[in-house]
Amino acid sequence: MSELPLLITRAEVRGDVVDVRIEGGRVTAVGPELDRRGTTRIEAGGAALLPGLHDHHLHLLAMAAARRSLDVAAAASPATFDDVVRQADRALAPDRWLRIIGLDDRHGRVDRTRLDALAPDRPIRAQHRSGAAWVLNSRALAAVGEVSDDGWLHRHDAELGRRWADDAPDLAPVGAELARFGVTGVTDATPFDDPSGLAVLADARSNGQLPQRVTAMGGPALTSPAPPTGLELGPVKVLVADDALPSIGQLTAWFRTAHDAGRPVAVHCVTRVGLVFALAAWADAGATVGDRIEHGSVIPVELLTTIADLGLTVVTQPAFVRARGDAYLAEVEPDDVDHLYRCGSLIDAGIPVGLSTDAPFGPADPWTAIASAVDRRTASGAPIGPSEAITPTDALDRLLTAPTDPGGAPRRIEPGAPADLCLLDRPLADALADLPSERVRATWIDGALVHGAEPG
Ligand SMILES: [Zn+2]
Repeated sequence: MSELPLLITRAEVRGDVVDVRIEGGRVTAVGPELDRRGTTRIEAGGAALLPGLHDHHLHLLAMAAARRSLDVAAAASPATFDDVVRQADRALAPDRWLRIIGLDDRHGRVDRTRLDALAPDRPIRAQHRSGAAWVLNSRALAAVGEVSDDGWLHRHDAELGRRWADDAPDLAPVGAELARFGVTGVTDATPFDDPSGLAVLADARSNGQLPQRVTAMGGPALTSPAPPTGLELGPVKVLVADDALPSIGQLTAWFRTAHDAGRPVAVHCVTRVGLVFALAAWADAGATVGDRIEHGSVIPVELLTTIADLGLTVVTQPAFVRARGDAYLAEVEPDDVDHLYRCGSLIDAGIPVGLSTDAPFGPADPWTAIASAVDRRTASGAPIGPSEAITPTDALDRLLTAPTDPGGAPRRIEPGAPADLCLLDRPLADALADLPSERVRATWIDGALVHGAEPG
């Protein structure tokens, strides 16, 4: 590995064509025609150089696990679901668990008995597409020592994950995929209730499996964990799930405990009821800088002022409009359709908005999120809240923000900044006009190349 400084020549940085010098993991100079002596070089040829993208909400361990799972999201009927499960059962070695993800209403009533009939000799666990619940067959229930008549367990990965026999997550492919997208940092929004989840992420960072910077939330039980080496602590993740609402007192206590520990909260709000509930707790406990609403899947227009007055940021996932929009149109209360995954109206109301993917529950490619924020169309082409559309530049900027300020100003490529960079293969306007094709030519984190071409 060369010790020479790297010079990225003739790169388009915020509209200007400049050279960018990188040394010791930092940007050390930005300007036209910098001195080339004693450098290795990459010629950008006028292509855009961006700060690396930061995905403000995803789930790294679930992304790793999804790679070893049968995704039934493409199975649109109960019969197709049964077919793909039987096929997967036949293809898998006899002693292995079958892990299924992407379960939803289109698959009919999936319960313990049905899974037993599909694969009687193998433990199966199937995760609802929301990530918030699992259904297990009899073998699987016995293996984890759980009792459930219908097989359903309404709990999060973190709690049950420790008891799955085969869950040794490999984060290297996840890190490589994110690097291909130009992602140099992520915020992991998993509400871990045990430090071992953070330890796995810290290990993956230190052994190089995961090159991205990681800001981790963890749940209320980890409000004051030992600082995990190599990770930043973000807000405390608080779940407000409609099927298991905490008491308002409990919610307010979690908010206060987090705030007293110097940490904001990030509250999972996917329904009108959940949002109203969370806002009531904020009214009691008060809001602090950095407090966030995660998803904001349904935000009735009359609540915009309350959210703005509390100073809350919304971290949303526009790609759900594309990935799940057709299902929403079939399932959601008609009155709620116009309130789905707002974006433009939040910004107009003065609410800071950050973008993210919620991978693996949404598509992991942030360029898909940008495209979806712009076109607001479902997979079949139906519009959802077309007036919520924002421009491609605005959408991109909301993935270039700092982890502590998802809806703030985009990070900049300037002397002193960490060399977390994403080089496209063409000027920005051309790339944004033709989303979401893969346009990322190279990605650096701390000045180290993690994807793409070596310098010449
Ligand atoms: Zn999430």
